[in-house]
Amino acid sequence: MELSYLEEVVVEATIKLLRRAATEIPPDVMNALKNALRMETHELAKRQLELIIKNCEIASKENVPICQDTGLICFFVRVGDEFPIKANLYQLLEKAVRKATKTIPLRPNAVHPITGINTGDNVGRYAPVVETELVPGDSLEIKVMLKGGGSEYPSRLYVLKPSRALEVLPKAVLTAIAKRAAFSCPPIIVGIGLGSTVDMALRLARRALMRPLGQRNEDSMIAELEEKLLKMINRLGIGTMGLGGDITALDVKIEWAHRHPASFPLGIVLQCWALRKASCTIRPDGSYRLGW
Ligand code: SF4
Repeated sequence: MELSYLEEVVVEATIKLLRRAATEIPPDVMNALKNALRMETHELAKRQLELIIKNCEIASKENVPICQDTGLICFFVRVGDEFPIKANLYQLLEKAVRKATKTIPLRPNAVHPITGINTGDNVGRYAPVVETELVPGDSLEIKVMLKGGGSEYPSRLYVLKPSRALEVLPKAVLTAIAKRAAFSCPPIIVGIGLGSTVDMALRLARRALMRPLGQRNEDSMIAELEEKLLKMINRLGIGTMGLGGDITALDVKIEWAHRHPASFPLGIVLQCWALRKASCTIRPDGSYRLGW
């Protein structure tokens, strides 16, 4: 397909966005890792954290992926109602993913659920994952997260009884983490979605992972719950790489939505220390800015 100038820009900017996400650890994640190293008292965990930080520094310097698992590509797209490109945006993202898979390179991670056959270019049915919002304005904002496979295992969905939800919620979160987080390259980041429908609870939990680490929810009740859960998770003692330690989670992030009075969906989506994310804003004149 012949691309217009602006379409070419969307492809080029998305490739740069993917390269940044794959090779540079975001500043908030690096700060959280360095804070964890300062606070950790277990020698083995400290050594692991030092190696993780060194690994990130080498990846950024050498322009190579931070981890061999470059993840399933998840885009969060906000399209301004006055931005000229809309209908073929998905095709442009696919084109960028195909090129980025070859040039960065990214590990091809899109396989058929039954046969296991790999498409070879990270593009397939609903791959990459794209969440789209139509918003007022004339810009296009693309955020990406590279979601590694290992950290998906402890992710969980519960539908709690509203009358007991707040009482059992901490136990549900701690159980999911205590059982499997050691296999998900901790220290982890915990995304939690409260409310709405069951599918939305999981989407909220994944979206929560995009909020900067260290930033509390603007709702004080939710912020308090984030703090409380973070403390409880770190008391589990799983530690960096599951070898024991004071820091099991770098942060807990909660996003919420109004729910049905009869049900309380709780989505839990975990992320390993390699929280690879980046953002890009494209203007209608073709100028763009990369960010986190
Ligand atoms: S869990 Fe994260 S750090 Fe571990 S292999 Fe997967 S992507 Fe890499």
